[in-house]
Amino acid sequence: MSTKWRDIFFQSRMFSCMETFTRTIAPQARVRRRVSTSTTATCCSYSNSTSYLRPLRSMMMINSSSVVGKKMPQQNGRRRSSSQQQRTTNEIKVKAEMPADIAYMRKETPPVNKNLPKVLVAGGGIAGLITAAACKRKGMEVTVFEKVVKYKPFGGPIQLQCNSQGALDSIDPKMAEEVFTRGTITGDRVNGLLDGVSGEWFYRFDTRQPCFMNGLPLTLVLSRYDLLDILREGVGDENIMMGTIVDSYEHTKDGKVVATLTDGTKYEGDVLIGCDGIRSKIRKQMRNGEETKLAYAGYAVYTAVCNYSQPFREPEHTDPTKVGYQVFLGPKQYFVSSDVGDGQQQYYAFLEVPEGNNDVYASCDDWANYKEMLLDRFGSWAPAVKERLECTRPEDIELRDVCDVLPDPRWVHRNVALLGDSAHAVQPNLGQGGGQAIESAYVLADELSKCEGKKGIELALMKYATRRFLRTSSIHGLSRFSSLMNTVYRRYLGDEPYDWYPEPVKKFWANVAKLKIPHPGSVMGQIVLMGSMPVILEYVGAGFFGFLPEWLAGAATGNGKDRVPRNQVPGVSAPLRDLKPDDFKMKGFPGIAK
Ligand SMILES: Cc1cc2nc3c(=O)[nH]c(=O)nc-3n(C[C@H](O)[C@H](O)[C@H](O)COP(=O)(O)OP(=O)(O)OC[C@H]3O[C@@H](n4cnc5c(N)ncnc54)[C@H](O)[C@@H]3O)c2cc1C
Repeated sequence: MSTKWRDIFFQSRMFSCMETFTRTIAPQARVRRRVSTSTTATCCSYSNSTSYLRPLRSMMMINSSSVVGKKMPQQNGRRRSSSQQQRTTNEIKVKAEMPADIAYMRKETPPVNKNLPKVLVAGGGIAGLITAAACKRKGMEVTVFEKVVKYKPFGGPIQLQCNSQGALDSIDPKMAEEVFTRGTITGDRVNGLLDGVSGEWFYRFDTRQPCFMNGLPLTLVLSRYDLLDILREGVGDENIMMGTIVDSYEHTKDGKVVATLTDGTKYEGDVLIGCDGIRSKIRKQMRNGEETKLAYAGYAVYTAVCNYSQPFREPEHTDPTKVGYQVFLGPKQYFVSSDVGDGQQQYYAFLEVPEGNNDVYASCDDWANYKEMLLDRFGSWAPAVKERLECTRPEDIELRDVCDVLPDPRWVHRNVALLGDSAHAVQPNLGQGGGQAIESAYVLADELSKCEGKKGIELALMKYATRRFLRTSSIHGLSRFSSLMNTVYRRYLGDEPYDWYPEPVKKFWANVAKLKIPHPGSVMGQIVLMGSMPVILEYVGAGFFGFLPEWLAGAATGNGKDRVPRNQVPGVSAPLRDLKPDDFKMKGFPGIAK
């Protein structure tokens, strides 16, 4: 899409932003001075340029630590200069002039309001914990039942994109700030798709744009343990029963729900939320014992975290100070890698294998371990891929099948509802499964908080499902589409001819491949991506807030309602990177651009 068309397309979008600006940022602007931020602080910022995509020119900052009434930490242990002290004085004034709604959001979690529904949650993964935390934050009594005694999450760190963080911020700014503190920002670097074999960029995208546009934090990654820790703290250990399994539920005559655990113990509540994962028991009972078929993606994923850069070693093929995550494309396999901070890279190697990991290649006795098998499978791939595999300890590689469930709107049965992977499991290609659970939790708590006197619970659950179904289904479709795109990709005409071609035809195509003629499919693919990716990024990252109706847009942006718009500032609350706007753009003729 040309810059002109992009601008026209987003003109209407700018109007809603300006409304938000007037309500939440403009009062800060009246202070007419810069206010420093601490390392964890985020700040509000809007572009004054005509292009919605241009980096920010003017910044008005709110110091989050001043907002919560903490002292500014001394920078690098140095004493503060008088100008810094002057800024602190200004911060106090900012606090004094803060709009009432910002102050409201930072208030402590209210005590339990017995007039609101009592919420039981089956499952204490990301979905269960964030659901409980969101309901508690609205004053509801919550109890979480979690099967395991101790967490052992699969797959190392998790990526939280701007929509997930926006929803989390709308639920509880303190939890969001803890995530900013513990996470590693990747969304400020160059990210994109590359040719698996040559390692050349096929399409670079700028994940900062939906954040700048909507006052959302940049994409980050953080350890799943850290995320679960933060969410647990939000719920409170006293409200989580580890080592308990919800076996079934029943509705009582007085409109309540009773959850029965496998040890026979019963717990009564006003609502039961099934957050018990992709193989949900609650879902099965809700659908009269009907087993929901998991849809196998056709891929198994091998994942590990490796020591890739300083302080461990000097990286040779990717500069992690400039590159965040990369998706190396190839037929029947693809390789996704992301910096996760502290010199480590996390990667996912997706291999097309038959269902149930029944993979003759992978399970073949020739391999001592997964690492050797992967090194062989990616042997002809770009050095950047092989480098990551080489610096992995074989015992660190984990394996899992990739599945999702087809969208099915039956999320609610009277006062029981599904949330998270039990309702809307998606393939991991967009890094959105957990993010969608956070968005859903925000909406659910919002609807249940309207049930004063415990009235209208069933309607509230129906509204929750209505507000969330199309958004999660769209993300489901986009995740599937990106898997398809990742694997049908061929850079040059004649690359990877189909297995079923007769030998002479294969030979012909192999000779054609040597000519390195760009594959028409990849040329078209790049053109389509260059036109559509900014729109996709905006939809996934911010749901076209204010432009699309809420039931289609998701709940990423509570801008001006339950959330203060905020971005990180490079060099202040995000690293200062040696990157120019041009580094994020493709150069050359669409289709064969580099
Ligand atoms: C390879 C891979 C990479 C991913 N990367 C990302 C990413 O970068 N970003 C992102 O947002 N998402 C990502 N996801 C998706 C994300 O991990 C899931 O969407 C998310 O973890 C789902 O959370 P959940 O709580 O719904 O389910 P689960 O994580 O499965 O949790 C369910 C919990 O319920 C418990 N439980 C089950 N049955 C019962 C019962 N009967 N009673 C009590 N407890 C029970 C389980 O022990 C478990 O703790 C990824 C997924 C995969 C597979």
